[in-house]
Amino acid sequence: METSSLAKRVSGRFVAGSSLEEALAACRKVNQDGLTVTLDYLGENVSSLDEAKVCRDMYLRSIGEIESRGIKGNVSLKLSQFGMDLSEEACRANVRELVLAAAGTGNFVRIDMESSAYTKRTLQIVYDLYSETGSCGAVIQAYLKRSESDIDELNSRRIRVRLCKGAYLEPEGVAFQDKAQVDLNFVKLAKKLLTDGNYPGIATHDETIVNQITAFVREQKIAPERFEFQMLYGIRRDLQTKLVRDGFRMRLYVPFGEAWYPYFMRRLAERPANVLFIARQFIRG
Ligand SMILES: Cc1cc2nc3c(=O)[nH]c(=O)nc-3n(C[C@H](O)[C@H](O)[C@H](O)COP(=O)(O)OP(=O)(O)OC[C@H]3O[C@@H](n4cnc5c(N)ncnc54)[C@H](O)[C@@H]3O)c2cc1C
Repeated sequence: METSSLAKRVSGRFVAGSSLEEALAACRKVNQDGLTVTLDYLGENVSSLDEAKVCRDMYLRSIGEIESRGIKGNVSLKLSQFGMDLSEEACRANVRELVLAAAGTGNFVRIDMESSAYTKRTLQIVYDLYSETGSCGAVIQAYLKRSESDIDELNSRRIRVRLCKGAYLEPEGVAFQDKAQVDLNFVKLAKKLLTDGNYPGIATHDETIVNQITAFVREQKIAPERFEFQMLYGIRRDLQTKLVRDGFRMRLYVPFGEAWYPYFMRRLAERPANVLFIARQFIRG
């Protein structure tokens, strides 16, 4: 399934290609439209440390190519892809090597946030690597009840934060279940980051929230250079273009690689209309 042409067609809506070369071509095009990128080599929950090393090496190549080809962008990675479930020590060593390589070219590594089972350990790794290099940042999920205090801590350390709503199924004990509550918390946390944070990334396709944020920054006279919006490759291109036209910074999360299935399923789950899109591809195929 993963390599069939049908799979390629349906995943191509959200994934920039299976090879680094294809992904870099997509990044160049995105750059030409005035947006920056963060490149994500798909893969999570690897089952061996050898696999984790293959991922690390692909990221090292990506950082090198971003530098040598003058792509305006950085990389985003998941700790479970770097071996977190197998050995935290090996995972740390892999990520450290990458963050040091990025620091060496003046670049930056975003450490994505996975399910709540990883939150505390992920933040600790970001704290440690940031203290050593100053070249990595965290992701905070607005659906988690702990997020406000995490943001206070990250802001006090001047660590860059990407704020998103959160993409995993979480129990009531740790996460708000109601969409309205998540949205409210997102706006509250975004304002905190815009006021007290260090170059936050506001990652959402929610137009109502985007409008609230643009109104807030205008009212507070927060310069557009002090933060960026972030969206996923292939989602709300109309809104991406409009924000760039209005003078805001926009970074696209550009995933590539063969292991697209879990990423793709999260995107389907977010929006039932995407299932119709896929169904149409099957009928045509
Ligand atoms: C740059 C970036 C990085 C991210 N990194 C992480 C991470 O590290 N950890 C994590 O848990 N989550 C991450 N996410 C995912 C995030 O948590 C949400 O699951 C996802 O962005 C959908 O939420 P939303 O804010 O767009 O709002 P929603 O309330 O889900 O959607 C609002 C509107 O956006 C549009 N939309 C949203 N999703 C889709 C879609 N899949 N297809 C088409 N239209 C859509 C629709 O118009 C929808 O009505 C990231 C998201 C972005 C944009």
